[in-house]
Amino acid sequence: MKTLTILGATGSIGQSTLDIVRRHPGRFRIEALVANANVEQLAADARATNARLAVTADETRYAELREALAGTDIEVAAGEDAVREAAAREVDMVMGAIVGVAGLAPTLAAVEAGNTVALANKECLVSAGELFMRRAREKGVNIIPVDSEHSAIFQCFEPHNAARVEKITLTASGGPFRTRSLSELHDVTPQEALKHPNWNMGAKVTIDSATLMNKGLELIEAYHLYPVRADQLEAIIHPQSIIHSLVAYEDGSVLAQLGMPDMRTPIACALAWPERIETPVERLDLARLGQLTFEAIDEKRFPAPALALSALKRAGNATTILNAANEVAVAAFLDRRIRFTDIVPLVERVLERAERAGVLGHLETLDDVWQADAFGRDMAREVMARSLQPQS
Ligand code: NDP
Repeated sequence: MKTLTILGATGSIGQSTLDIVRRHPGRFRIEALVANANVEQLAADARATNARLAVTADETRYAELREALAGTDIEVAAGEDAVREAAAREVDMVMGAIVGVAGLAPTLAAVEAGNTVALANKECLVSAGELFMRRAREKGVNIIPVDSEHSAIFQCFEPHNAARVEKITLTASGGPFRTRSLSELHDVTPQEALKHPNWNMGAKVTIDSATLMNKGLELIEAYHLYPVRADQLEAIIHPQSIIHSLVAYEDGSVLAQLGMPDMRTPIACALAWPERIETPVERLDLARLGQLTFEAIDEKRFPAPALALSALKRAGNATTILNAANEVAVAAFLDRRIRFTDIVPLVERVLERAERAGVLGHLETLDDVWQADAFGRDMAREVMARSLQPQS
């Protein structure tokens, strides 16, 4: 029986993780479930899985959670310290699926405690990749990627042939606006952007998929997860989202991982690693699909992947700043305070300002991460206040 803690249990990844767990009774035991605002769901899942501990990050919801779990043996806790303590409890695996930079400290706490981490939260690598992976190496902790592209690379990357890898190619669906012109992109609404053609995900990830910033963040993640240089990483559009990523070797072989676009496959792959377990995911029928297509990314309409790679080449904290500025920009777009086409240029301007201000550098400690993160957020708000008009 594998012991499992889920950080971000009430989210899209958390719920899919619980779906896999429920389908394999006797295989997993839930130690802790951690969430934030959705106390009702958290309590229901804690009861259903007989978790030992349920934690809300929001201290004001402690009483509500306690009441919802009254009459059970489930421990209840609240607050950021309680979240980190839950992550550090000894288990076979921690699923790191809190959204945003809020996921960093708890997931790092899991690493510091020596727990194997199934990593969905991309901010751990994008905001703090240098620091996070150094601590994982020092602690001898395995980081098993959950993001579908990195899970694909994980399945295709031969560690003993790492020096023979020529290139890693991440595929991108292209999002809902792949075929729109630049002028059409200008008037995109949050409602339109939230409809992703292939994947069913949380709001922030869905907007990032529409701008292709998600792909940019994933290129940064791949850089930290695998021993390759930034110039060995690329992204291409593959609208069907069937090939999840590819690894090319110097003998001309290209290994790809294929499957229907359903996060339960990479989640099950991580949960069962190094074994495999059954999922109900629709099976791939290549004859029915007929064709798989590919296109280069048009950098004029979708500048985010190139911007992310350029940030990666600048410094360890440049991607922290990029991520922070992007979070502020996405939230502003969802609130209709900026346009869809403002999101990536806003992030680019923040990075330029960071360079001019001389704040780019390495990430030695979590404080370095918070400083760079705060700089990115403050600067994004300042740039918005000065130059961007609200969406009519
Ligand atoms: P959701 O927004 O659906 O869920 C986020 C989860 O994090 C919820 O459980 C939420 O709790 C919890 N949470 C938010 N803030 C805090 C906090 N301060 N402390 C503790 N828990 C918190 O996100 P997703 O599941 O879509 O994504 C999770 C992560 O996985 C993200 O980093 C995303 O980039 C990554 N990812 C997601 C993919 C997907 O298909 N969804 C694909 C690949 C990566 P509550 O609901 O109670 O507020």
